[in-house]
Amino acid sequence: MTVYSHSRLSCYEQCPAKFKLQYIDKVETEVAESVETFLGSRVHETLEKLYRDLGYQKMNSLEDLLGFLRSEWKKNWSEDIVIVKDEYTQDNYLKMGEKYLSDYYKRHHPFTQGKTIALEERILIALDAAGEYKLQGYIDRLTEVKDGWYEIHDYKTNSRLPLADYIRSDRQLALYMMGVKKQYPDVQHVKLIWHFLKFDKEIDSSRTDEELEKLKADTISLIERIEREEAFEACPSLLCEWCEFKPVCRQWSHLYKIKEKPANEYMKDSGVVLVNRYAEVKSKQKLVSLEWDAELEKLEEALIRFAEKEQVDVVFGSKNKVRVTESEKYSFPSKNSTEREKLEEILRNYGKLEAVSQLDTAALGNKLQQNEWEPDVIEALQKYVELEKKKRLYVSKIQK
Ligand code: SF4
Repeated sequence: MTVYSHSRLSCYEQCPAKFKLQYIDKVETEVAESVETFLGSRVHETLEKLYRDLGYQKMNSLEDLLGFLRSEWKKNWSEDIVIVKDEYTQDNYLKMGEKYLSDYYKRHHPFTQGKTIALEERILIALDAAGEYKLQGYIDRLTEVKDGWYEIHDYKTNSRLPLADYIRSDRQLALYMMGVKKQYPDVQHVKLIWHFLKFDKEIDSSRTDEELEKLKADTISLIERIEREEAFEACPSLLCEWCEFKPVCRQWSHLYKIKEKPANEYMKDSGVVLVNRYAEVKSKQKLVSLEWDAELEKLEEALIRFAEKEQVDVVFGSKNKVRVTESEKYSFPSKNSTEREKLEEILRNYGKLEAVSQLDTAALGNKLQQNEWEPDVIEALQKYVELEKKKRLYVSKIQK
């Protein structure tokens, strides 16, 4: 079976269509890497040099490192590198890299926090005993702080500082932790450390054996899902801006095709003509339907009042009749409101949340209608539940 990696799994989670283009169809794209990826690679290789040289008892000064960064930047830069945020230039990104490294250097100099065991080390992780499900990854830096106490360091050049939840549930370093535990038999403890270079911030975490077991099971089931996948649906999102497959992706390729046409040709494209007309007709239809809706509402109110006044359930016209019925329906606070949260809390406290499928309002309505629950539960719910009477109208032809 394919050896997976964290980035391969993340690619599928982000967009199955991208996964297919990249790993199954192996489509070659002309779009070059983004400036963010380029910046990340240059910063990573500079930090790798710092620690590799330290292994040879060579301490680089900060200026040495910044010089290395600038020279690698110049050597590798190509005009094809994409800067999506066009208000910034290549120079802004280089300065960001310099700032990340300067902050890191000042914070960690003289780099005696631990013994470097490995740099950019490939780690192979077997997820099951039979070795059928395997993952591989590269650890930025592995250190040992005392016998058997390891640290997995990962450098992040993200523009956002992640939330605590991300750190608690991040899969990448946790998977590496499994690999380290297997590969280094004297392991007593493993700490996971993320260096968020933009914020000059270090965040650490660890995982219990139970958490690692759960992660293994979840990762295997994700791999099985990928292996079974046939549809590979596209998930367009903001991340499409950074997707190298955008020009060939079915979600965007028409846009690329028409962008290449001159303005006078562009408007003649059959797709453009059809969409423009469709949007125009749709918006007209919406206006007309709004007008009819307003009149229908007034007629319905008038018919209900008429039926009540005349004390009838069916009102006759010349060819049609309208039946007026009344039903009772529970109404609940809207999703994401404080009242809704309180209602959920009450159900949870009384152990009833499961019975209504984590608050499926239709299921809760049924339960209340069946009147099976204890009076104290009903009383606690009353503040958040309203029983509304609803009139409905049915129009039909009059049978001769
Ligand atoms: S452009 Fe967007 S929708 Fe298309 S493959 Fe890439 S991520 Fe998926």
